[in-house]
This record gives sequence, C-alpha cells and structure tokens, in this order.
Amino acid sequence: MAIDGPAGAGKSTVAKAVAKRLGYRYMDTGAMYRALAWKAMRHGAAPDDESALGRILESTDVDLGADGTVMLDGADVSGAIRTPEVGQMASQVSGMKIVRQRMADLQRAMGRSGSVVAEGRDMGTVVFPEAEVKVYLDASPETRARRRFDELAAKDSTLTLEQTLADVMRRDRRDKERAVAPLRRADDAVFIDSTAMPVDAVVDRILQEVNSKSNENGRIA
Ligand code: C5P
Repeated sequence: MAIDGPAGAGKSTVAKAVAKRLGYRYMDTGAMYRALAWKAMRHGAAPDDESALGRILESTDVDLGADGTVMLDGADVSGAIRTPEVGQMASQVSGMKIVRQRMADLQRAMGRSGSVVAEGRDMGTVVFPEAEVKVYLDASPETRARRRFDELAAKDSTLTLEQTLADVMRRDRRDKERAVAPLRRADDAVFIDSTAMPVDAVVDRILQEVNSKSNENGRIA
C-alpha cells in the first residue's frame, strides 16, 4: 500500500495504524531521506553538492526496523533526525536524482520482503506504481503546521507556530516543484482530506478501500 502527501498530513500516524491492523510492515521513507540528510549535515556537505552527496551515499546504509527504528550505518538515529533543520536538508537533498535512485532501490528491496504500508511523497507514483491501494492524504496548511508544531514544541520551546507553518510550506513547495519524482497525487490514488477527520476515521476509510479492492480482485480471480 502506498500513502503519499505533504508534511503534516498525518501520514505516519495513519500508516502505522493501518500497518498494524493489516499485519503489514510500516515503511517511513521520509525517515530514510532524513537519515541521509543528517549524515550529510554532520559531514558539512552543502545541500546542492552532488559529488559530496554521491560519496556519502556510497558508504551509507539506511534501514528501517519493524518497530519504526531508523538505523544509519548500524546506529539508531530515530530521535536525532526529527528536527526542522534535518527536514529542510532532507527536502533539499531529496531533489537529487542519485539520491532518489538509491533510496528507491532500498525501498523496493524492503517491499520485496513482504507486504508493506509505504509512506512518503512518491510511493504511488514512482517507487510502487503497482501498489494495490494508493492513498493521497492532505489537510489544510494551518492544520498540518499545527500538527507538526504539537509534535515538535515539546522538544524545542523556542519554536513558534508561524515558523512551523513557514517550514511546512517551504518544504511542500520544494517537494511539489522538483523535477525528479515530485509530490503529486497518482491518478489512481484515493484522495483523503484529513483536515476535519480524526485519525480513526481516516484509518477506517483506508481499510474500507483495502476491503473493496480485495473483493474486486476476488471477483476477477
Ligand atoms: O516525511 P518527512 O516529512 O519526514 O520527509 C522529509 C523530506 O523527505 C520531505 O520533505 C521530502 O523532501 C523527502 N521525501 C521524499 N520522498 C519520500 C519521502 C520523503 O522526497 N518518499
């Protein structure tokens, strides 16, 4: 299953819950871009330095644990990558073709190992175009910023809602306008606006879609 959408749309919460209900593996592909971005920042690489990124990629191993742990070169970076700065760097380096190719290879390899709920920006359009169910999850920019702010404010008391809104909008614009694998709704994706929907309602809506797809497939078979 592929779940795409902009920052703060609720993809992670929803994808985790759907994966749990179906017994599928949850794949947070944004975390993979964040892990690479975090490493690039530690190496002092500029966000547009393709040759530095290429060298870093050659010696980088990113893996996602079944419990959602993000492993970078064997170390747990799950907490360290959840900052607005790493998010911005991730959205910059993720525009590079070499970066996307490598990440897509890793993601497809994980997808081959069993059923997954993959969450990101290009799951339904590029990485898993054959996904059985595709969802494009969106919400108003203010709602998305509020969700991000509520997540981050506990860790950073200097953060403001206005800054968070600006951060979310900047990343969205970059993700939608990049030349390689831009964020867009796949033609066959179900569109869900989660602005006024509680998490459970979004999860139920997706599970309904899964049921109707498996009934359809059952009829065809
Ligand atoms: O999902 P999250 O906000 O953690 O993603 C961080 C950044 O990684 C996004 O802003 C986007 O630029 C990039 N990303 C991507 N493709 C994906 C997942 C994330 O380009 N499949």
